[in-house]
Amino acid sequence: MKGLYARKSFDSQLQELTVRSLGPREVRLKVLACGVCGTDLHLLRQAEDYSPLGHEVCGQVLACGSEVKRFQVEQQVVLEDVALCGVCEACKSGRSDLCRSGQDMQSAPGMAEELVVHESMLHDATGIPPLAAAMTEPLAVSIRCVETLNPRPGKPLAIFGMGAIGLYCAAYARLRGAGRIVMIARDPNSARNRIAGEIAQAYGADDIVYTKEVDWQQRILAQEPVDAAIVAAPPPLCVPALDLVDYGGRVLACGITFGEDRQALLNINDMVFQKKSLLTSIAEPALDFPLSLQLIRTGRIDVQRIITHSLPLAQHERLKELYGQDAPAVKTVMLSA
Ligand SMILES: [Zn+2]
Ligand SMILES: [Zn+2]
Repeated sequence: MKGLYARKSFDSQLQELTVRSLGPREVRLKVLACGVCGTDLHLLRQAEDYSPLGHEVCGQVLACGSEVKRFQVEQQVVLEDVALCGVCEACKSGRSDLCRSGQDMQSAPGMAEELVVHESMLHDATGIPPLAAAMTEPLAVSIRCVETLNPRPGKPLAIFGMGAIGLYCAAYARLRGAGRIVMIARDPNSARNRIAGEIAQAYGADDIVYTKEVDWQQRILAQEPVDAAIVAAPPPLCVPALDLVDYGGRVLACGITFGEDRQALLNINDMVFQKKSLLTSIAEPALDFPLSLQLIRTGRIDVQRIITHSLPLAQHERLKELYGQDAPAVKTVMLSA
């Protein structure tokens, strides 16, 4: 059985792995599809050592441990990369978002032919096309961002970043009753941004503004003050986001980086006097898979709209041409078959 590992400079390789024997509550999956996440791209660009790729998994059950009752062979499922445990003090206090004792992928690559996981990480995804089902995780991440920020209905929302998370935030915020949605990206001439801009508009974004253009802030504020912003982009963009929001405005950061741009210099005085707040969100443990699956199943969010490329696992070296330069790749899904 093979699984994909990568380190910086898009140095990826399929490594031969042994599948561990099944524990009583474990399930062995054939991976059908696995999305390429921003974190995978960070590893492909910056990791010093070979690291496992992939956690946005749709799979099919190959075998179940002796005590597994909720799943059966051939059933199609999706995977929470970090699950909540349900029994720790945080879970029992109604703060399962703070649980740190649930099951996870134990450093196994989701971009692999097979995977062994604990059944508590799985959800039924019968009948959903595998490419769409693999988007359950990034949509759940975006749902958590928007719910944590809780933008007021009818009020303007700015979203920095037009990657998968920024785009799904736009789609979910639109569904949830946001007012004018403005997407903010850097370069209007980027091939990736052109495609992502079309997707953003299909998801209900009202405007796209580029920070490379002079007076981009004025262009946004000429319409009406911005109430809230999401930074689905590197951390330094929290600075212009906090500048952009109005008195009492709220900014939520979810973009991370493993590079030097992990820090930002904030004007705390201004935040205090202007009653602005900065929130963060990370979807560990996963909390929103049921809602994410429901929105996908019912077609309320067309999650496949962002998938610009799919690649057989064996063609992993093509990730370099898709992401090593400005190519029109918004979301790529690896297929194991
Ligand atoms: Zn992801
Ligand atoms: Zn717990």
